[in-house]
Amino acid sequence: MKREDLLAPVQYNVIEEIEKYTGQQRTALYWEDEAGNTKEITYDQLLSNVNKIGNVFKHAGLNQGDVVLIMIPRLIEAYEVYLAALKIGLVVIPSSEMLRPKDIIYRLTHGEVRAVVSFAPFISQFDHIDEMKNLHKFIIGANYDGWVNIEEAMSEETNLLQAAATRQDDMAFLSYTSGTTGLPKGVVHTHGWAYAHLRTTAPNWLGIQDGDVVWATAAPGWQKWIWSPFLSVLGSGAAGLVYTGKFDPETYLHLLKKYQVNVLCCTPTEYRIMAKVNELEKFDLSSLRNAVSAGEPLNREVIETFQRYFNINVRDGYGQTENTLLVGIMNGMELRPGSMGKPTPGNRVEIIDDEGQPCEPGVVGEIAVHVDTPALFKAYFKDPERTSMQFRGEYYITGDRAKKDEDGYFWFEGRADDIIISSGYTIGPFEVEDALIKHPLVRECAVVASPDEIRGNVVKAFVILREESRDKNEELVTVLQEHVKQLTAPYKYPRKIEFVQELPKTPSGKIRRVELRKKEQENSSLL
Ligand code: ATP
Ligand code: MG
Repeated sequence: MKREDLLAPVQYNVIEEIEKYTGQQRTALYWEDEAGNTKEITYDQLLSNVNKIGNVFKHAGLNQGDVVLIMIPRLIEAYEVYLAALKIGLVVIPSSEMLRPKDIIYRLTHGEVRAVVSFAPFISQFDHIDEMKNLHKFIIGANYDGWVNIEEAMSEETNLLQAAATRQDDMAFLSYTSGTTGLPKGVVHTHGWAYAHLRTTAPNWLGIQDGDVVWATAAPGWQKWIWSPFLSVLGSGAAGLVYTGKFDPETYLHLLKKYQVNVLCCTPTEYRIMAKVNELEKFDLSSLRNAVSAGEPLNREVIETFQRYFNINVRDGYGQTENTLLVGIMNGMELRPGSMGKPTPGNRVEIIDDEGQPCEPGVVGEIAVHVDTPALFKAYFKDPERTSMQFRGEYYITGDRAKKDEDGYFWFEGRADDIIISSGYTIGPFEVEDALIKHPLVRECAVVASPDEIRGNVVKAFVILREESRDKNEELVTVLQEHVKQLTAPYKYPRKIEFVQELPKTPSGKIRRVELRKKEQENSSLL
């Protein structure tokens, strides 16, 4: 696949990809909740609802280019509302229900929002936000004072709607980053970006085939939801599974069987917790053909467990809100456990040094994306300074570090800020975490730099044990240290280990090492 294959026509609206299935009676989405209630919708019904909702928006006075913040959880309605907004050329801010009023206000003002769509149980948190006053407000699931009930309004509308004549460089999404390292950044993605994304990720990584049932567990509001459950599933004409309920590993394993899921896309944490379920052999996942993971590094332990019990390779994929999948183990590619894989077809991804030159195999540098890559974002919204800071010569700098091997496989080291320099050695936290998690007593862990008078920094591990009751003594520390020394170069072992009950995380569940590092720095300056 060449770069040219990823370029959208000048006039293009991503709705075209889904409207290929207009009139078709094939299932678009299966929905189930924790109580066991179920629903199912065909492409024909879904697209008809999309048109009605688009008409509701238009008749309320929304126009092409207006920005709408959408906060709907894992429901069929989320798909309908997003598609309706895109079809009439609105710009969507995907928002998770985990956002708190301060996060919402940040998006409303920074994103110059004109309308909000949300779900009844979340509405009250908008009540005290002054910035909501002059906005159009739409609600799903109930009536609420001052909000237009979408279901009611739809019944007054026809299902005929002309798509807006958007251009490929028109903004489609304004996606805020997870905020793992600081304030979230507003990432501008165009309709043309969606075109490029669909041509790399769905066929090559997820490996979706006609007639597949696909379960991508990301929740609406995160860019990964845009990537997988939303665009890749509906753009491939597959049937998506939508589960509203909290994560429970056994429930997940049951649902995989019940819906005969063919393609699964989860986070490393979900895989990790599923892999630790007892008696995995009693779950029949024989329909599962492809399993992929993204968002955080994927530990070898998980890969081995899924191979052992289900004869399936969990394949890693790396990307950011700012782009699409950049590196991954593509469908059919030889797996190297611990490696993220190779650059995705059509995208130019390199490892570069401080001068912007490609690194030799084995040398750690920054993961960088060539600027002419169609799957790269357009800019940070209203932030030219930050946008330009992120580019070096012909490359966009991801802020992550990795090395390549002789065969072009990428090996992740960590976020540039998370890299530990101890006695002059550079140590990536991922390799140490990957070793620690292999120990049967370890449930979760995070590794950061801890200031040290002699070595500058030492490696420190924060560890959550599987058995809470376990004696957390010196002996256990030594056992874990010896374990790491067996699996990595011995100088990388954690000289300090602290046992904790939980780790600081972003609302999307990513470990915030920055917070742990700050704590270490503060503690050391107190001494
Ligand atoms: P912020 O930019 O606001 O600090 P964030 O970078 O966590 O937050 P996202 O865009 O959601 O926001 O996450 C992208 C980052 O997640 C990548 O830069 C990388 O650090 C990490 N990541 C994603 N996939 C993988 C993977 N397969 N292996 C290792 N790290 C990954
Ligand atoms: Mg980032």
